[in-house]
Amino acid sequence: MKKIAMTTPIVEMDGDEMTRVLWGMIKDKLIAPFVDLKTEYYDLGLLHRNETKDQVTVDAANATRKYGVAVKCATITPNRQRMEEYPQLTEMWKSPNGTIRSILDGTVFRTPITIDAIQPVVKNWKKPITIARHAYGDVYKSVDFRTEEPGECTMTFKGVSGEEHTVSVQKVDGPAVWQGAHNKDTSIRSFARSCFQYAIDTKQDLWFSTKDTIAKVYDGEFKKIFEEEYESTYRAEFEKLGLIYFYTLIDDAVARVIRSEGGYIWACKNYDGDVMSDMVSTAFGSLAMMTSVLVSPDGTMEFEAAHGTVTRHYYKYLKGEKTSTNPMATIFAWSGALRRRGELDGLADLSAFADKLEDACYATLNAGTMTKDLVGLVEPGFPAKAVTSEEFLDAVASCLANKLA
Ligand code: NAP
Ligand code: MG
Repeated sequence: MKKIAMTTPIVEMDGDEMTRVLWGMIKDKLIAPFVDLKTEYYDLGLLHRNETKDQVTVDAANATRKYGVAVKCATITPNRQRMEEYPQLTEMWKSPNGTIRSILDGTVFRTPITIDAIQPVVKNWKKPITIARHAYGDVYKSVDFRTEEPGECTMTFKGVSGEEHTVSVQKVDGPAVWQGAHNKDTSIRSFARSCFQYAIDTKQDLWFSTKDTIAKVYDGEFKKIFEEEYESTYRAEFEKLGLIYFYTLIDDAVARVIRSEGGYIWACKNYDGDVMSDMVSTAFGSLAMMTSVLVSPDGTMEFEAAHGTVTRHYYKYLKGEKTSTNPMATIFAWSGALRRRGELDGLADLSAFADKLEDACYATLNAGTMTKDLVGLVEPGFPAKAVTSEEFLDAVASCLANKLA
């Protein structure tokens, strides 16, 4: 069989632990036999990040800007415990995802992979709900403090021009806590653009929600910038595709989401996105079935699994045990990147291969061949047999070979 050709490389970011093991297996069994794979490889494994003083992460992000498509394996973000586990680390390196996100000025979109055998807890959800979380500012870049005595807190902005603007936050008659938060127009605008762009690319409606009735200026600015971007740049394309941009208050959005069928993108401010993405992923079933795409305002995309490096399984693997780690989200990161590459380069074969790879995964799961984490989630009446990661990948590979023959 002739392999499917590629013209432009995908930026490939390798990672750590169990997901690094799966990464190699996915490439060997599901991609390399069928695609003449072109990637520009960056090893974001913790030790290589350490050896390059994290330059490799910056290089990988810059390569992503150049080529427009990347696929990333989960990586360790070192903490105190990891510093003990890897004594050779010269620094507690920052989260690679944070570094890449800030270089790409991107927004993260998380989407569950759904199958009939696993019903969402919310029974009327028929299609996936994608959550877009604004990842800058608000409470995550705020300052806060406590005071003991009665008094007044004021907030002052000092402009570079020398002009000052002061407001009274509150007068209090006893101990109190205070918080100062901000966001930037540029960041909100990039967030809006990424959301509209991704809605167009995936042909889904876009919902956006804030609390602008209470935070009239702060959340009002988010609402205004989204409206401006929609009217000036995206409305025509939305109308052509029959898509809807829908703004509503966050509490109204929550009620509508629960009663909806799914099948749209829900853009959330930073805190709302943090909370709601955990709720939505849990209600759909499993973190192991959640994909994640980082999207820049210009449509550059980096695909990955939403879960981490699955450390507990890795330590079993190191002892020689065969693990039943779910590779679905990592496979879908690859299929997402290959499909996007195909779309950008006009390679219909490559995009069709991505579809078939996903179809082969669904067919394998629907036949009841799945990793251990999913078996317990399957509804009565559906087949479900736990296999190892390797057995699952072999089953997908043989199904894929049939589809391509
Ligand atoms: P995790 O790797 O997502 O795993 C947490 C638990 O969730 C696992 O122990 C496992 O449960 C279950 N799980 C997650 N993915 C699974 C899969 N594909 N198949 C089967 N079960 C799965 O989170 P963590 O253990 O908190 O973090 C481990 C490392 O990952 C950390 O060093 C963290 O920095 C990193 N991390 C990286 C990213 C990223 O690169 N995007 C994201 C999050 C975390 P059981 O043990 O019960 O089987
Ligand atoms: Mg959270």
